[in-house]
Amino acid sequence: MSDIHDQAPRRITILGATGSIGCNTLDVMAHLGGRGAFEVPAITGMGNIDLLARQARTAGAGFAVTADPDRYQDLKQALSGSGIEVGAGPSALVEAGERETDLVMAGIVGIAGLAPTLAAVSRGADIALANKECLVSAGDLFATAMTKGGGRLLPVDSEHNAIFQVLEQAQRHAVERIILTASGGPFRDYSREQMAAVTPEVAAAHPNWSMGLKISIDSASMFNKALEMIEARHLFGMKPEQIEVIIHPQSIVHSMVGYCDGSVLAQLGAPDMRHAIGYAISHPHRAPLPVERLDFAKLAKLEFHAPDETRFPALALARTAMQRGGLQGAVLNGAKEAALEAFIAGTIGFLQMADIVAATMDRLDDGRRASMIEDVYAADREARAIAKAIMERPA
Ligand code: NDP
Ligand code: MG
Repeated sequence: MSDIHDQAPRRITILGATGSIGCNTLDVMAHLGGRGAFEVPAITGMGNIDLLARQARTAGAGFAVTADPDRYQDLKQALSGSGIEVGAGPSALVEAGERETDLVMAGIVGIAGLAPTLAAVSRGADIALANKECLVSAGDLFATAMTKGGGRLLPVDSEHNAIFQVLEQAQRHAVERIILTASGGPFRDYSREQMAAVTPEVAAAHPNWSMGLKISIDSASMFNKALEMIEARHLFGMKPEQIEVIIHPQSIVHSMVGYCDGSVLAQLGAPDMRHAIGYAISHPHRAPLPVERLDFAKLAKLEFHAPDETRFPALALARTAMQRGGLQGAVLNGAKEAALEAFIAGTIGFLQMADIVAATMDRLDDGRRASMIEDVYAADREARAIAKAIMERPA
């Protein structure tokens, strides 16, 4: 039987290498053989030029790109003498996605990840998808592009990766429901009054997972779970009513699939993104990963309880977006981004984020659908503008 080490070096492009997903990806690759086992045709970052240059040199990358056009000279200088090609700005990001490769790790945060990831999809590369916006904002277009491109879509978000691991392909018709687990975040047991007063620093302190700033705050508001419900719908072709969310504070069960015979299959592991990343980049093999092994004798208990949608209205908003369809996913995300930025800047409170998203979704509930990617960008821009206008309105 062959394993990944018997084969020629695998080529992996990393979009968003300097972020939490990107660093974990490079860490997994280093553990699985580093430069002997992998080639890195392209690598991208944005503001963290020193780290990007170090990563590019260590990995022996072919092409290094900063998304910030003003940082071209800085990156060029940091990589001088390395022989690594340098690029900057949105078109260079797309070029990084287009470079010949086996797999692309899509780890850019936000809608900026859409164009380079779609470029990779069109080239037929396998996509290890961490970026949520590709599916939340542009799910239908993304699915069509994947089918045309012919590559495999490997989910990296831990919940979807878990479902991918336990979803029996031959039994897809027998799937009754999928159950996304949620830690509940740092405010799991807070009252609405307590939540109204929290600061971005407290909201960003996730109890179990170590992640980027925005996704950590989205976990506290459960907007992250809302995005994941929409992701799941596109990834696994589920109806909105087949997607359940359950609070599981220990983050050991990463998600579950329920079948028509009443069986539920779950994937378990320590809360460490290197599980999902390692699984995605090694698929269809399983590689030995440097993650903590579960000691069931020491796991005191695994708890599950229903989410409180009054305290976490983001979940109901996701269901509304899925039922309305069209561009409502892009609108939910764009409005959420604007509200999140305002919360981080200290201009709105934690609970206002959901109110602003709900009001923006209602304003843009006009049945519009996306026939091309520009439609998604337009909906995103419009949602942000409306959300901002709502926030600026005197109370
Ligand atoms: P980070 O904020 O840690 O990293 C984001 C990466 O994208 C960095 O490389 C950053 O560059 C780059 N970047 C930021 N803005 C832009 C832009 N406008 N254009 C191009 N590149 C940009 O995010 P995470 O790694 O936490 O998350 C990445 C994606 O994966 C998100 O969509 C998130 O929701 C998803 N995800 C993350 C998980 C996690 O554990 N972190 C879990 C599941 C999903 P630089 O830092 O150099 O400025
Ligand atoms: Mg997740």
